Amino acid sequence: MTSTISKLLHSHPHIRVSWIKAHAGYIGNEEADRLAKEAAETENFPESPLELPKSFNKTFLRQKMLATWQMAWDDGDTGRLIHNIIPKISLDSINWTRNEVLFFTGHGPFPSFLQRFNLAEISFCSCGGIGTPIHYATVCLLTTSYHMAPPSQQHQTIWFRRVANNSTSRRKINNLLHFLQRETSLFHPDPN
Ligand SMILES: [Zn+2]
Repeated sequence: MTSTISKLLHSHPHIRVSWIKAHAGYIGNEEADRLAKEAAETENFPESPLELPKSFNKTFLRQKMLATWQMAWDDGDTGRLIHNIIPKISLDSINWTRNEVLFFTGHGPFPSFLQRFNLAEISFCSCGGIGTPIHYATVCLLTTSYHMAPPSQQHQTIWFRRVANNSTSRRKINNLLHFLQRETSLFHPDPN
């Protein structure tokens, strides 16, 4: 649109351009003016963004994008386990290893997960407990050398967050996952 207009003006130098004042009775202009005001009020957007420094607009739009993303992350239906651990969105990478992702999402070699996706018949570990990530990291009789102090039932969320933010705990998780992957058959109850 803008380039069409500038081409037209170049080829017709006699055309003079002048701004039409708002509120001069031009319905289109008044409507545009009304929408701009409405946007400024509801969106908290500066009234004349184009006159502001580019850097300001960039920061403003970035903040707006982050706020929208945060709202979607808070209200979403998926990734709730990860939302518990990382409630605040960020443009920085979280630097989790593949094994840490498997552990924190629960989408790993755990009977609880495999059974949910019909890859195992039952969700039990061969020790008799339910084979969740937290089971292997805290109470399973077959993984004692990888254990950490278990959380109380109502503090599981905090436990996961603390583990994710502690390098020693994360190293344990990595070793635990290596072990679980190496000894898969050990953790599935004998079907006979
Ligand atoms: Zn077990």
